[in-house]
Amino acid sequence: MSKAKAPVQKNEMVDVVFEDLTHEGAAVAKIDGYALFVPKGLPGERAKVKVVKVNKGYGFGRLIEITESSEHRATPPCPIFEQCGGCQLQHLDYEGQLKQKRKQVSNVLERIGKLEDVTVHETLGMSDPWRYRNKAQVPVAEREGGLVAGFYQERSHRIIDMESCLIQQEENDQVVQTVKAIANRYHIRAYDEQKHRGTLRHVVTRYGHKTGELMVVLVTKGKELPNKKNVINDIRQALPNVKSIVQNVNNKRTNVIFGEETTVLWGEEYIYDYIGEIKFAISARSFYQVNPEQTKVLYDKALEYAKLTGKETVIDAYCGIGTISLFLAQRARHVYGVEIVPEAIADAKRNAKLNHIENADFAVGEAEKVMPWWYSQGIRPDVIVVDPPRKGCDEALLETIIKMKPERVVYVSCNPATLARDLKVLEEGGYKTKEVQPVDMFPHTTHVENVAVLELRN
Ligand code: SAH
Repeated sequence: MSKAKAPVQKNEMVDVVFEDLTHEGAAVAKIDGYALFVPKGLPGERAKVKVVKVNKGYGFGRLIEITESSEHRATPPCPIFEQCGGCQLQHLDYEGQLKQKRKQVSNVLERIGKLEDVTVHETLGMSDPWRYRNKAQVPVAEREGGLVAGFYQERSHRIIDMESCLIQQEENDQVVQTVKAIANRYHIRAYDEQKHRGTLRHVVTRYGHKTGELMVVLVTKGKELPNKKNVINDIRQALPNVKSIVQNVNNKRTNVIFGEETTVLWGEEYIYDYIGEIKFAISARSFYQVNPEQTKVLYDKALEYAKLTGKETVIDAYCGIGTISLFLAQRARHVYGVEIVPEAIADAKRNAKLNHIENADFAVGEAEKVMPWWYSQGIRPDVIVVDPPRKGCDEALLETIIKMKPERVVYVSCNPATLARDLKVLEEGGYKTKEVQPVDMFPHTTHVENVAVLELRN
């Protein structure tokens, strides 16, 4: 069939069977080879669909009626699932989500990585996959009745009020509700992005899962915060676990949440949390994994794959605030961490001190430049761990790994497609991918994290 002409027309009703799920969570049906993407459908289901958009090679449909339901279909427990867009998979039961994520990873490894005989384990999921996030960043808006705080309606700038988010730890919900009430009490105006005026832009909350400590960040348009003293007192009164109240000023017309200026209004600059035995100081803007329970699972797996005995030199590239580095340092001779954000490296050094870890060094810079320099200085790691952002590793970095010839490479990835691409390069450079472990860090969303381990071929 020619791809030029679509076999369906806009507004046509069609009966389809869904075969697959995309990485964005839409179901895929094929009509004479033509792909129709339908949000909220599930593989194996039969449904009536209304065609809403027809492109050359593919189209979009709206689910009208499910005529044969999947055994994995679930009733989304969240009342705002349809409008919010923060979660994409609540209509798929948790077992189905874990299976789907594993399948996605192994397909991508085959298709992009040309890796056919790699063991991809069952996704490691949570025993209770709700209320897991330790950080909320909630936009604020003005309505007739006062301030509302919630979420952007899917594909829009309209903020919808929210009382509770089922993937947030309850404490974060409580902070948002409390700050909303206090801001209303003192007539603090919400920021209006169209007119670029008003005061409160976002409420950001961070919660130490192990310590119970709370941080409240008020992101405001200017430095001024009306009734500051009362606001602080009322927050402290209502939330006894608050250890830090911080103001961040963002005067730009932007949808980036934070501005450059952060001041402590009350309490500490940091709250603390633990992953395993390691204590971390977390400031308003520190990068810190949002699912603490699964982070432990992920790092334990990375540590297991590194097979450390205490004698090894290890490099942790893209190390952030040193989370993985410090985990590894407990079992290695020496760890070198490298990261591009200077504040993150300052945090990494502070965290090393906090835990009396002396066998870790941290460098600020692009990993693809610092690693060749380390190589020129004679550093020969036994194990290299990488944990890059979604775009994956830089070519130059992969080449340096191949030159450094570590026994083992542990690749932590938040994007299966770039993982597959990079594994292929390492395979061509003399490595063998041994196994891949998907870990579910973000239940009910389409994201999946992976740890892969490669060994040098003899
Ligand atoms: N391993 C850390 C952070 C991983 S996130 C953890 O688990 O907490 C990826 C990190 O890579 C981010 O901190 C980002 O700032 C950093 N980064 C992005 N590009 C980089 C580059 N070219 N060189 C070094 N670090 C980089």
